Amino acid sequence: MSISSNAFEDEDIFIADILSKNKIIAMVGASKNWKRPSNFVMKYLQKHGYTVIPINPGNAGQYILDELCYASLQDVPIKIDMVNIFRPSEFCASITKDAISIGAKTVWMQLGIKNEEAINLGKKAKINVIYDKCPKMEHSRLSGALGLAGFNSRLISSKRPVVKKPPSASRNGGIVKTNELETLAIHAGTRPDASTGSRSIPIYQTTSFTFDDIDHAASLFNLQEPGNIYARLSNPTISALEQRIAALDDGLGACCASSGHAAQMLALFPLMEPGAKIIASSKLYGGSITQFTKTFKNFSWDAELVDVSDLDAVKDAVKDVSVKVLFAESLANPDGNITDITSLADIAHEAGIPLVIDNTMATQILCQPGKFGADLIVYSTTKFLSGHGNAMGGAVVDMGNFPWDKGRVFSKLTTPDSSYHDINFYESFGNHAFINYCHASVLRDLGSTMAPLNAYLTLIGLETLPLRMKQHMKNAELVANFLKDHPKVNYVSWAGFKENIYHELAKKYFKDGFGSVFTFSVNSGYEGAIKLVENCNLISHLANVGDTRSLIVHPASTTHRQLNNEQKEKSGVSDSIIRLSIGLESHKDIIGDLEGALSKI
Ligand code: PLP
Repeated sequence: MSISSNAFEDEDIFIADILSKNKIIAMVGASKNWKRPSNFVMKYLQKHGYTVIPINPGNAGQYILDELCYASLQDVPIKIDMVNIFRPSEFCASITKDAISIGAKTVWMQLGIKNEEAINLGKKAKINVIYDKCPKMEHSRLSGALGLAGFNSRLISSKRPVVKKPPSASRNGGIVKTNELETLAIHAGTRPDASTGSRSIPIYQTTSFTFDDIDHAASLFNLQEPGNIYARLSNPTISALEQRIAALDDGLGACCASSGHAAQMLALFPLMEPGAKIIASSKLYGGSITQFTKTFKNFSWDAELVDVSDLDAVKDAVKDVSVKVLFAESLANPDGNITDITSLADIAHEAGIPLVIDNTMATQILCQPGKFGADLIVYSTTKFLSGHGNAMGGAVVDMGNFPWDKGRVFSKLTTPDSSYHDINFYESFGNHAFINYCHASVLRDLGSTMAPLNAYLTLIGLETLPLRMKQHMKNAELVANFLKDHPKVNYVSWAGFKENIYHELAKKYFKDGFGSVFTFSVNSGYEGAIKLVENCNLISHLANVGDTRSLIVHPASTTHRQLNNEQKEKSGVSDSIIRLSIGLESHKDIIGDLEGALSKI
């Protein structure tokens, strides 16, 4: 909680109440410079009906955004409702004393600013105190506008939002508070359409969005106000999906991309620079190994693959100061290896780098990597999240916890960005910096945007994710047990078996199951494996996972074909290995199909 309130327990309702009642704001530390965050915030608040009086001794007697600036709070001739502090925390106690002395009802310390003495002074004087938050961001989050940038509003409601207004505290905001995945999968990110009442989200099949006037256009292009400009950067259907995916991870926000690979690019680009290095698990999806070790070389990025079950080897690898990120899959494709997320997070954080977890195979239903210390989570939404084998897509979720200005240098986030009038993303947006950078820079310049129709299909797919995952895993258990007992099968990688080396990690990190993608190996080697695949008549032979349909593939001849023998061996892909993605058909038919194919080899 970043509030001290006498009247409300719920932070959102409290903040909504403050924003609806405190209309006259004194901004201490307001800047004349339109590139400074205080100037952004002042302009935004003015536009949304607030009177903002600038307080800054250096500009006293001058006008900032058409308001006369005063040297101190005591000089202001009108009654102030709220004092918004844009000054370092050591000044907050004396400013709070002044705020109390002029009768302000609220003191609001800006994002990144917190002062205990000021909080205690506020409590004693029975005024409201908010710290480490930005009124512009809170107003735009609660009024739904920040959702346009992919942030998790945490507002679940069956009521239409009132356009551009925070919820009214008197009706409890019409908001439901929940962390239940079954509810979030259906509701997060989508409310009835504000203008038409449409309960299902429209597919915003448009390239561009109109500006109200020149000033509105400038504010959007300057990143002073959240909103849509051009669909390469953001689109409301995609933003709804971003919110839903972020909500399922209990994350701060998300950014979607055209595919899982594009999402990996999106996650890594803000962290990397020429000469920088990725440490990644050697047990990764084959396409990711190729992307990391071959294609990323074209950006002069280096990647080293490490056995992440050897924690000492990981510690050693991340010591190199050019390393900017540690990357692993929670449940690795294809072999079902399970990653010790907490241990990797500790090692990454000790080295001052973020841990990125690809959670595609597990999904949030099995595992929420952010709860175990992962900083960024990537998905190929092509798989279980959309779930029906009909929509390509990817997403990166930011938990919002990584301090980009500490540890190793992440210059894209922490130094002036000349493509945005020299703003420093981390200084301007705090923990919103990463997701804002993904939209404003990575999607803008690399253009790997998700299609709105795919976002819609993925939103619909997500509604049944909890149900589907349960059934996928129920079927997987039955199929794994059938294969384990079959005389022509010599190995089944399903982590639900007690003797599986990942069984204990699965119990620690996974809820309610062991996934539904696993491999098995036949006695008759490469030839037998190929023959088996070709003799399946229900299970589809294709290179995907996470479909309602059961799928089968022989990785050594397909997904992992581009890897050399050493890489194949390290990623657990031998010639006789076959990958299954168990679908939602009757388990009797899936097993029957495998039984028939096994009888042919
Ligand atoms: N991550 C994992 C674990 C995958 O299995 C895949 C694809 O199979 C990807 C990422 C890449 O996703 P996409 O195919 O959507 O680009």
